[in-house]
Amino acid sequence: MEKISVLGSTGSIGRNVLQVVEKLSHRFEIVGLAAGENWELFQKQVEKFKPQIVSLLRKEDAQRIQHWWKGSPMRVSFGPEGPEEVARFEENDVVVSAITGINGLRSTLAAVETGKKVALANKESMVVGGALIQQAARDSGAHIIPVDSEHSGIFQCLAHEKREYVKKVILTASGGPFFHTPFQKLKEKTLEETLQHPRWSMGEKVTIDSATMMNKGLELLEAAWLFGLQPEQLDVLIHPQSVVHSLVEMRDGSILAQLSSPDMKIPIQYALTYPDREKMWLPSLRLSQIKSLEFYDADVQKFPLLGLAQHALKEGGSVPVALNAANEIIVDFFRKRRIKFIQISPLVKEIVEKHPKRKVESFKDIFKIDREVREEARNLIEKRF
Ligand code: MG
Repeated sequence: MEKISVLGSTGSIGRNVLQVVEKLSHRFEIVGLAAGENWELFQKQVEKFKPQIVSLLRKEDAQRIQHWWKGSPMRVSFGPEGPEEVARFEENDVVVSAITGINGLRSTLAAVETGKKVALANKESMVVGGALIQQAARDSGAHIIPVDSEHSGIFQCLAHEKREYVKKVILTASGGPFFHTPFQKLKEKTLEETLQHPRWSMGEKVTIDSATMMNKGLELLEAAWLFGLQPEQLDVLIHPQSVVHSLVEMRDGSILAQLSSPDMKIPIQYALTYPDREKMWLPSLRLSQIKSLEFYDADVQKFPLLGLAQHALKEGGSVPVALNAANEIIVDFFRKRRIKFIQISPLVKEIVEKHPKRKVESFKDIFKIDREVREEARNLIEKRF
């Protein structure tokens, strides 16, 4: 049996991971679960999977689970260090890193440092600390397998290819809920409309990021670090059907692509079983039913955060850290209805453009810059709105 710990088990990715593990119970076993504040769902997950180690964000919840599961040898921890303890659990063969945002950075690093297999769904840790995470993986021998559908697609296309054969990697984007919305109409868009993604069912943060196309911007940075690509080797193509998950153009003119139904269980299962492939219970993709696959260039005028991410990718240093921090805070204000959808992009842009670029040499630097930029973003909103 391969033993799995899931960091972020009550989120959208975490729930899908547990479904895959349940279907492949002949092969996988859950040994660790870490969640935030969704106590009710977490309780059900613990009951079903009987992990050996768990963590919750709040102390009260951790105590509650200890009391409720009395007499069990299950280790219970809490607080921001809780997921790190689960990540370092000695029984783990695979750690799924699926906590959203920079909050997932410490536990991703902890998992990578153990030298085990890490199924990476937390894209932000690669965005802000790609160089440091890759160095930690080289030191420990950890194998990082991407979970993000686009990156899983690229990973599969590159499996048997030498890196020097790659000319370009093209990430596909659904275009999000406002792909057909004229720019003028974006100012009317509400939080509810933003959360209606046409193809993918995902967590709120990534769904909002899809609507601004910031998600694709973050994914460009993620791809650069995962696959060791230069900024000019990366491109984005809008593909509303979300069937082609990414394309890799080889130097000889061939383009490889990975196709599947838009369901996160497919890349999740691949990351868990890699280098094997197990049978999937979902219905086969029927291209004759979909009929046409469309592709469009991305509109960086309408979605300036995509252009801003490309700028951050070229600049490097602390700029990606500032971009991610500014976006996390501004999106948070949008979720609290303090600002409108149309204000997200210009506010993030303003904060990133004001940010003086610095070197990032350690995780300490990342957290320091992250804190500063968050503070600035909060002050800006408090002053202006
Ligand atoms: Mg994605």
